[in-house]
Amino acid sequence: MSSYIPVEIPKRSRACCLNNEPFKPGEVYYSRLGVDYERQDFCEKCWDKKPLHMTLTTWQGKVPPKTKIEQNLDRLERALQMLREGEDPVDRMIMALFLVRKKWLELRNEYKKQGQTYQIYEVVATEEMIEIEKKVLSLQDATRQETIATRLREGL
Ligand SMILES: [Zn+2]
Repeated sequence: MSSYIPVEIPKRSRACCLNNEPFKPGEVYYSRLGVDYERQDFCEKCWDKKPLHMTLTTWQGKVPPKTKIEQNLDRLERALQMLREGEDPVDRMIMALFLVRKKWLELRNEYKKQGQTYQIYEVVATEEMIEIEKKVLSLQDATRQETIATRLREGL
């Protein structure tokens, strides 16, 4: 009597196994399953360099479009990167307020440290905490606010 042992076929990797290019939504990819059930995923460019020996099967697929949630996480990640890398405290304050308006950040509290007031914000999606030096924005900062808002919108 022969018994069937179920095997697990791995999920597609995030990048091509040969040139490490990440797969982008909508892109065609090719997969190869070896006789040992090891899976390799290739981009279109690299597919003709695939190994032929010990191949169980191959197939072609298309990377699904990003879900709304994934898109929002990408945008959030880019916005947070701008916030983390920003060196100017006024710029950082403007960015934080922008992200609060988008409900991506929430102000948790503020405190004083060495004569300065700091605010602590929480990233709603990840619970990451970010400390921002509190700045009261003046009317002269309006142009800067607009520039940053545009940058954030275009980068998002
Ligand atoms: Zn490739």
